[in-house]
Amino acid sequence: MRTTLQPRLVQLTTRSGIEVRRTLPHREIRTIGAWCFLDDYGPNFEPSAMSVAAHPHAGLQTVTWLFEGEVEHRDSLGSVAIIRPGQLNIMTAGKGISHSELSTKDSQALHGVQLWTVLPSADQYAEPTFDHYESLPTFAIGNFDIRLFMGAMNGHDAHTKNFSPLVGAEIKVAASTRQDFELNSNFEYGFLIIEGSLTIDEVVIEAGELHFIDQGVNKITISSLSGSKFLLLGGEPFTEEIIMWWNFIARSHEQIVELREKWNNHSPEFPRFEDRIGGRIPAPALPNMHLSPRGSRR
Ligand code: MN
Repeated sequence: MRTTLQPRLVQLTTRSGIEVRRTLPHREIRTIGAWCFLDDYGPNFEPSAMSVAAHPHAGLQTVTWLFEGEVEHRDSLGSVAIIRPGQLNIMTAGKGISHSELSTKDSQALHGVQLWTVLPSADQYAEPTFDHYESLPTFAIGNFDIRLFMGAMNGHDAHTKNFSPLVGAEIKVAASTRQDFELNSNFEYGFLIIEGSLTIDEVVIEAGELHFIDQGVNKITISSLSGSKFLLLGGEPFTEEIIMWWNFIARSHEQIVELREKWNNHSPEFPRFEDRIGGRIPAPALPNMHLSPRGSRR
């Protein structure tokens, strides 16, 4: 199955009014491999557009990748890290962590993606960790300039902390390209177009769209007349049923209720930390229904 998913515009009130384009989870497709959340924002945001006060996560990893700008990350483990384009932040929330994100005024603009991966149930309650990757593999395959930020590809390895087989890469395509591109047939893939338009096996995909390709494909042909940039996200299909609610991923309604209460009641699982934003974002009210785990497809 192949399909092109359209983004929905989401206003993140906690992000000083930033409007982001969300392509995952999508009504049709909730996960691609273990990739379960995909927001992209910019390119023309003010450098200081992002100011997200302390908020918790559990059961997932947050994966931060920038095209432009600088963001300061702080978390309840005491981590303080500035991330710049070409670098990667992975925060493995596991049993629980809280963090804040503040973009700095030193850059020209802010443009990036916020991704999450879902942790398999065996690692759902892992000890939280934060990893900053200062430099990652870059290489070329013909007309493709590749920055690998997750997993392995074409003999290169990003040595990132993964809990299931995954790949993530930023790929720049030169103008007047028509070139084959090899895929791992055990993986399913998403192609998020960042700039320009891209043609995959004669299907045209425009900026902001996410093109999905099911597992079982080992080669595609990519063309671009005027050049393009896209994000390649892939992985082995994630077959567990999950509940994604607010900033948490769990397997049962009761687990979500417990995480929500721990955060809102300032439980020691979510220790306080200092940042330059101040305050914290409380969890919203639960919907008036029992949350049920769901699979990857509609
Ligand atoms: Mn977050």
